[in-house]
Parts: sequence; C-alpha cells; structure tokens
Amino acid sequence: MFDKILIANRGEIALRVIRACREMGIKSVAVHSTADSDAMHVRMADESVCIGPPSSALSYLSIPAIISACEITGAQAIHPGYGFMSENANFVQIVQDHGLTFIGPTADHIRTMGDKITAKDTMKALGVPCVPGSDGGVATLEEAEKIGAAMGYPVIIKATAGGGGKGMKVAQTAADMKSAFQTARAEGKSNFGNDEVYIEKYLTTPRHIEIQVFGDGKGKAVHLGERDCSLQRRHQKVFEEAPGPSITPEERAKIGKVCADAVAAINYIGAGTIEFLFENGEFYFIEMNTRLQVEHPVTEAIFGVDLVREQIRVAEGLPMSFGQDDLTINGHAIEVRINAEKLPNFVPCPGRITQFHAPGGLGVRMDSALYDGYSIPPYYDSLIGKLIVHGRDRPEALARLARALGELIVDGVDTTVPLFHALLQEEAVLSGNYNIHWLEHWLEENLQG
Ligand code: ADP
Repeated sequence: MFDKILIANRGEIALRVIRACREMGIKSVAVHSTADSDAMHVRMADESVCIGPPSSALSYLSIPAIISACEITGAQAIHPGYGFMSENANFVQIVQDHGLTFIGPTADHIRTMGDKITAKDTMKALGVPCVPGSDGGVATLEEAEKIGAAMGYPVIIKATAGGGGKGMKVAQTAADMKSAFQTARAEGKSNFGNDEVYIEKYLTTPRHIEIQVFGDGKGKAVHLGERDCSLQRRHQKVFEEAPGPSITPEERAKIGKVCADAVAAINYIGAGTIEFLFENGEFYFIEMNTRLQVEHPVTEAIFGVDLVREQIRVAEGLPMSFGQDDLTINGHAIEVRINAEKLPNFVPCPGRITQFHAPGGLGVRMDSALYDGYSIPPYYDSLIGKLIVHGRDRPEALARLARALGELIVDGVDTTVPLFHALLQEEAVLSGNYNIHWLEHWLEENLQG
C-alpha cells in the first residue's frame, strides 16, 4: 500500500488527485514551478517541492526533477494527471527503473496507443470498428493522392503522433491534398518530432462518442458507458455529457462490451478512453487515450464511482472495487470547460483573480484551483475550472447548469462562461441534436462574424 503519492501536475487535476489521496489516508506531494509557488495544489498537498523555473519543459516535464522530488520526499508512486507526463512511455520506464510505481498503464500500452497507426492496427485486430482509411502510414504525396482518389473526398490527413487537435488537416477535394498532406507532416514533425501521417475518410456529420474503460492489468476490464464530446472548437472539447443523448442502451452495451473485451485482452491496467466517431448508427474508432481524461467527472457522476481512487487501487495491485454488473447509470451529467480566454477569439487571458465564488447546491461539482487574489500564470494551459452538474435526466442537468453558471463569479480575467450562457439558449444544445461541426459553425455565425 502507498503511504505517499507525488502528483506530477498542477491546477484542478492536481487538486483532484490530492482529494482522492486524502480520502484514502495517503499523503500527497505537490511539485511546482517557481511560477506556481502560490498555487492551490501546493497549498493543499501535505508537502511540496519546487522542481524548476516557469517553463514546463524545465519543470513539469523534467524527468530528473520529478524523480528527485520523489526521492527527497519518499513518495512511492506518481500520479501524472492528464497532459504533461501522463502519456510519456519513456517517463513510465524511468519511474519503474527507480523502483517507483506509475499510476497508469504500462509503458508498452502507452507506446502502442500513442502511435495512432499502431493503435488503429491493434484495435482492428481486437475487433474494434475503425474509420476507413489508408493501410498504415502514407509516405509520399503521390501515394496520398492515389488513396484520396480511391477513397473519395473529403479525407483527413493525420499525424500518427498527433494529439490535442494538432497535426490534422482536411482535404475537401483533390486540389487541397498537397497542402493538407504537407502541413499535417510539418505539424507532426514540429509538435511531436515525427512526420509520419496516415489518411482517413473525413466524416461529415459524426458525433464524438468515447467509451470509458477500466482494467485491473490481469485480464479483467469493464466499461463505464460513453461520453458525448461533440461540442468542439478546433478539435478540442468544450462541453461534455454522459450518457450520450443519441446512444441507445443496446448500442451502449454492444460497443461497451467490444471495448471492455479489447482492453481485457491486452491486460490493460487503469483508466482508458476509446474514442469513436459515431455516424448513422455506426461507431468508428479514432484513438485511445491511456490516461484519466479532463471530462472524467461526468462518468463519475452518473456511475457514482471515484476513478482516481480506482486508479490508485489497481496500481497498488488491489482488485477493482466494481464489476460490470455493479455499474448502472443514474441520471445525466454535463461538464463545461471554463478557460481564461477572451471571446470572440479565445485569446488566453492570464491575470489576477479579484473575486472567485464557486457555485454549489444539489448536483453541482466545481473542480478548480482558483481562489480570491490568485494570479493565473501565463505559461500553462488556459483551463481554470470545470463545472460539472448532475441531474435526474438531461433537462434537469441543463437547468442545473444554467443555475450554477449564474452563481459562478470569476472576476479579474475574461473567461469562456458567456459562451455557455449563450449555448444554453440554443435549440440544438437543448435538444442534444448536434455533431462535431456544429459549434464551429455556430461560432462563425454568432461570435466571430
Ligand atoms: P487528437 O489526438 O488530436 O485529439 P483525434 O484523432 O482524437 O485527435 O481527433 C480529434 C477530433 O478531430 C475528433 O473528435 C473529431 O472532431 C475530429 N476528427 C478526427 N478524425 C476525423 C475523421 N476521420 N473525420 C471527421 N473528423 C475527425
């Protein structure tokens, strides 16, 4: 059993992990850059270690600094949160080589799923349905053009190492192929050090549906239904809900079983998310994320489970505390991502918070590291909070979201809160009738015009 866990992250997700540790009687160690000396995760943890200057590359991404912090404090395990070190197979290997436990999947699983071509091949072999596309990597423009012509446009060119919406380019017609192919390659190279790309059919009206899976590393795995994360800006999620308004219980059970069986077959350990595009009743695998997701709280709300606690348990070698039959859906949950960004162009807006008040009441959860007088540093992601609401059904969750957004006060910086007030007036959002392109169109017409 762990006595002490180091959290290699910052912001709301560091708090999330500290809270789980405290409830389990485990001591927590925060690490921080010099820009985060006054951050909430540092205040809330039992101990803290400064691991470097503001630049993430020299602090939150510094493997020697994180390992040293473990050694200094005697932490036995590391929780990576999401982002930063959470999907870095090299880091996982080094953590293990130092006799420490990484709370997450194995280096091998991270490596396999981190390369999207290998991930797709692996999933296909495990019986998971995939988006039609090229057979592996596409090395030359001529080959790309041939595939485009055979498959029919539009197509999407994707960097195998891509993530966070980077390294993806759509070619609407054959005329776009050259620039899309070259840009996707260049983005892959500059952002991820890998210019290999592959091609997929570009689906025009899909929803983004992702299945939460959880494995014990010993061949047992369950699924915790789906999240619909179709409301996206620049391929990044802004509003997530569970269950998906368009998914039937039969569809959920079927795709859920395919996913749970697939991860069981590879002895997957911990939390994972298998992402699909869903169009005309069909699921098409796009990628697997081998970590806790930003949007995990909507799943926690409807299933009444603590996914971080579960991650820690299986990392300790304990069995999962639930089986598939214990998992039943209760009500509906929605999360909105609150960023310190100025509308209409979503320009990051760091600065000092002069007043902060978190909403509360029945069915409301606010995961945020903000406090009165806190200065948001300019060096990191602009996510400053997640507001999660849970209701008996979707209409109640929507009403609760409107009510909670009305109570929320974040003064001193611009935020994306006005976007959500506006979205809650939209028929498509209220009825749940939207796809992955809806928000981009809406933004063009309503905000950026
Ligand atoms: P990342 O790793 O950058 O998050 P993903 O492969 O998960 O990339 O895709 C992110 C988003 O990009 C999807 O949710 C979807 O909106 C869009 N997308 C990806 N592949 C396709 C496709 N074949 N057709 C249409 N949209 C796609």
